[in-house]
Amino acid sequence: MNKQDSYKFVKYLWRDAEADKLQGVDRLVYRSNRLGEDLTLTNTGGGNTSSKLMEKDPLTGEQVEVLWIKGSGGDLRTAKRDGFASLYLDKIRAMKPLYQNHPERGPKTEIEDAMHPMYSHCVFNLNPRACSIDTPLHTLVPYHHVDHLHPNSVIAIAASVNQERLTREIYGDDVLYVPWQRPGFDIGLKIEQLIKDHPHAKGVLLGHHGMSSWSNDDRTCYETALEIIDRAARYIEAHDKGEKTFGGPKYQHLPEETRRRAIAGLISWLRGQVSVYKRFVGTVQDDEKMLRFVNSVDGPRLAELGTSCPDHFLRTKIKPLFVDWNPASGDLDALKTAILAGLVQYRKDYEAYYNRCKHPDSPAMRDPNPTVVLIPGLGMIAWGKSKSESRVTAEFYNCAIEVMRGAGSD
Ligand SMILES: [Zn+2]
Repeated sequence: MNKQDSYKFVKYLWRDAEADKLQGVDRLVYRSNRLGEDLTLTNTGGGNTSSKLMEKDPLTGEQVEVLWIKGSGGDLRTAKRDGFASLYLDKIRAMKPLYQNHPERGPKTEIEDAMHPMYSHCVFNLNPRACSIDTPLHTLVPYHHVDHLHPNSVIAIAASVNQERLTREIYGDDVLYVPWQRPGFDIGLKIEQLIKDHPHAKGVLLGHHGMSSWSNDDRTCYETALEIIDRAARYIEAHDKGEKTFGGPKYQHLPEETRRRAIAGLISWLRGQVSVYKRFVGTVQDDEKMLRFVNSVDGPRLAELGTSCPDHFLRTKIKPLFVDWNPASGDLDALKTAILAGLVQYRKDYEAYYNRCKHPDSPAMRDPNPTVVLIPGLGMIAWGKSKSESRVTAEFYNCAIEVMRGAGSD
């Protein structure tokens, strides 16, 4: 079977005929763009790729090994050569004793915070592109190529209660497991040690975060990333409870025409309600996946638990507003009343949450309105300051739903 035919949930976009025309960083750009092109592989703005390549040192004229890594900002799909930071590999690796000789090491320590700015001392060829906070996930991996991504299917496993057991069950010895830890030098060292102990591993699953693949061959690195993501997606699909997902349906789907008419009659009014402090733009999603969630028995309870993807709180808030409405009634006035009641409660909960966590130097309370509104029968409306921001909010909540589906699949 051809490699490209062996994946079910991801697109195989690598073409030797195109890649083989390219060399060095251009091949890394090619690989990154192919990964970014398939939206099932990573969230907007997320993920980074790297290659360790031989380059001519502008100072000495000698060949030196350089880590090229996707810089912060921008997207894998559209990244060009100037989107990549370049660092002297020997200098980065020379940072190890600086860290290891410090008496107190680990996340949130003084030395961990001091490490990231050190990368500026390692810049190759005056490249102004800043490297991402995920850089340590690449530097100490002893392979030429690393792809680090945050795909929904992997996060669904990585955010579940049984993440470590599931990693073993899905991947056997192929993929290592590291529990959640803020990206930094410490986790880089842990991964380096794990690879030493398990030299046959092809990648790692990072708890509550994502995954990395590695290889000395760039196409293999790409294929391994696809394989890790596809295996997670297959596992979730195989354990999908079908009709019983999210406790089974509480409400039936409304016909598309009825849904669209209801949304059209609602959206500008709803926008006025959630935009008390800011002007918001809404993105509506009412595909099969979303409807299954909003129409389910367990949806309201699961939504209340909040999102599990740690980076998503800012976008999706701590929880969505799940409107208590029976779509079979078709009563849009009752829907508006239910939304208003839901908003009052939502703002109260938000204020209580703020006051509970408040410190003397906390910033003022942020906008207490939801950015994600879920309505049985109709779907999701995600809000943001612009069209693209509301789309990202929607994408993040899709991830949260996938996590809940995956987490239920143990
Ligand atoms: Zn990451």
